[in-house]
Amino acid sequence: MPRIAYVNGAYVDHRDAVVHVEDRGYQFADGVYEVIHLFRGRLIDEEPHLDRLDRSLRELDMDWPMGRSALQVVMREIVRRNRYATGLLYIQVTRGVAPRDHKFPSGVRSAIVMTVRPIPEFSEDMREHGVGVITIEDIRWARRDIKSISLLPNVLGKQAAAAAKAYEAWMYDDDGFITEGTSSNAWIITGEGMLVTRAASHDILRGITRQAILEMARELDIPFEEREFTREEAYGAREAFLSNSSHFVTPVIRIDERVIANGKPGSLSTALHGRYVEFMSDFPKIAGSR
Ligand code: PLP
Repeated sequence: MPRIAYVNGAYVDHRDAVVHVEDRGYQFADGVYEVIHLFRGRLIDEEPHLDRLDRSLRELDMDWPMGRSALQVVMREIVRRNRYATGLLYIQVTRGVAPRDHKFPSGVRSAIVMTVRPIPEFSEDMREHGVGVITIEDIRWARRDIKSISLLPNVLGKQAAAAAKAYEAWMYDDDGFITEGTSSNAWIITGEGMLVTRAASHDILRGITRQAILEMARELDIPFEEREFTREEAYGAREAFLSNSSHFVTPVIRIDERVIANGKPGSLSTALHGRYVEFMSDFPKIAGSR
């Protein structure tokens, strides 16, 4: 069964999916993206992801490559054609193809690429044992709320984590407060049972999973605060976890060389993951998906 990508109006075999050498995404990282979880034939939180795409595009004065509802038709078609029950839908929009010149080109249509790749349902290993994170300086630009494809600091951070045999790198700002992970939001639960994550601002990506978790905390009467926390506070936390659309709630059991609590995934992180899985089942199944 061939894997299919969508590139600027055409469904093509993934092996033949190419963009132009003068695509501004390729030359300037002048583009934005979204990653949406396809879970058992359901697109999780599709509308908030498209709202965030809209915001990223507007912040960069970039046009939608097509209308929102047309894009949703393509999203369904690519899911249907790839026939994966569970995977990640990747959408990338760039300012288009134009002769290399920093300023915006005129009369150029935005370029779009969409792919789907299969992933295992959950990593039981990550869920049961938790993961380790390292902390590194946050060297990114000042508009981390825009989901830009310019991810070099994130790439370097994730590589530093891998080199240290950790799963993720949590970045800290000039004042020593954790901003977020290279591809996830960062959370702790204090000794008093308070769920804490950094408030949404230009400093972090407003994670769609982060937002869903805050709503679940409200619904489950878990007290939470959106505020800054330092590495030292995280070292002493009762629990820690990270969140993103690919892996939902992932327990963190080690930060740098410090073991968090008893070194096992915490009960609240586990409960939030369980609630998230229930939440995903509420989304409608895409017609024709597996
Ligand atoms: N922060 C960063 C830097 C990310 O790259 C991501 C996701 O890739 C997140 C946070 C989590 O966002 P979401 O829950 O929307 O996947």
